[in-house]
Amino acid sequence: AMQDLTGSEERIIVSVRVRPLNEKERARNDLSEWECINDTTIMYRSNLSATERSLYPTTYTFDRVFRNDSHTRQVYEEAAKEVALAVLSGINSSIFAYGQTSSGKTYTMSGITEYAVADIFNYIEKHTERDFVLKFSAMEIYNEAVRDLLSVDSTPLRLLDDPEKGTVVERLTEATLRDWNHFQELIVFCEAQRQIGETALNEVSSRSHQILRLTSESSPREFMGNDKMSSLAASVNFVDLAGSERASQTNSAGTRLKEGCHINRSLLTLGTVIRKLRTLPPKQRSFREAGRWFTFINILLYGYMSKGRNGHIPFRDSKLTRILQSSLAGNAKTAIICTMSPARSHVEQTRNTLLFATCAK
Ligand code: ADP
Ligand code: MG
Repeated sequence: AMQDLTGSEERIIVSVRVRPLNEKERARNDLSEWECINDTTIMYRSNLSATERSLYPTTYTFDRVFRNDSHTRQVYEEAAKEVALAVLSGINSSIFAYGQTSSGKTYTMSGITEYAVADIFNYIEKHTERDFVLKFSAMEIYNEAVRDLLSVDSTPLRLLDDPEKGTVVERLTEATLRDWNHFQELIVFCEAQRQIGETALNEVSSRSHQILRLTSESSPREFMGNDKMSSLAASVNFVDLAGSERASQTNSAGTRLKEGCHINRSLLTLGTVIRKLRTLPPKQRSFREAGRWFTFINILLYGYMSKGRNGHIPFRDSKLTRILQSSLAGNAKTAIICTMSPARSHVEQTRNTLLFATCAK
């Protein structure tokens, strides 16, 4: 019964979700520039200039592409569920929302987290042959400082190297989940603790990475003489990343710029780590339509990755990747959901997002 949760061989699932045009965009007659031509392909609609044609593909293919009228339930079922439920079989996993500010990361990730936790509770209720303990912790990485979202104390937490567990966040609160209501209470508490910054790009935008972590430990109620299935422990991480836009785009100096640099460092490292973790060269189909410049990138990536898993993977270059190392490496499962606005005014950022997604595949 446990195996059916991890049927797929796929280690990294990359998908894209388009949000609807919002009121502001509609009010200024911003146009939707992208069309989902099927379940896996998204296309840039307008004609590209000669220069653009040599720089950008017009179509991009991923494991799944979700149209602007898709429901979060569907995104969860088709792009995240299998990865999230792997935790019940003792497999670590991470689910990321990546995209520019206001593209729908929080909207998507909070829904996915709720569906996943509900499914996990359901599963536990049905599988009375095992005893489960669920633990929940929540942290935020802001300016490369880690803080506990389940504590009112905002003192930055240190990362320690444990010979057995790998990187651990020192003194991070771990709440033992009692039931669904308890989970809801903790989420509300986290929301209140979460840092919110104001930028010129959006009235309320998140400048930090948020990691919600659910750990499942289980063992059979009666001894069955089968070591393999006796005890299982793993974590699933729900990661709402900071906005992927460049710091230079938010017209603010000082702190904001410094934040931007750190955010970019974490995101950049995450991108590098994910690319390096892939043992196989990127799927050629994603690159076929690309112009010369893109082919050049492809050759670079190929050279990079043919060095294989023994090549150095820079987990230690950012707090985000250090904390998530054990949930990215080895047989861990990863889902990356890239969120995007369909608006003309965001085309440049959207292309960056699609490029990130393409490189992750
Ligand atoms: P981000 O976390 O990337 O900054 P949000 O998730 O806060 O963006 O989304 C920005 C706004 O757009 C929110 O008001 C949210 O409710 C809305 N929104 C985002 N995605 C969708 C969607 N797929 N359908 C409807 N509304 C959405
Ligand atoms: Mg957000």
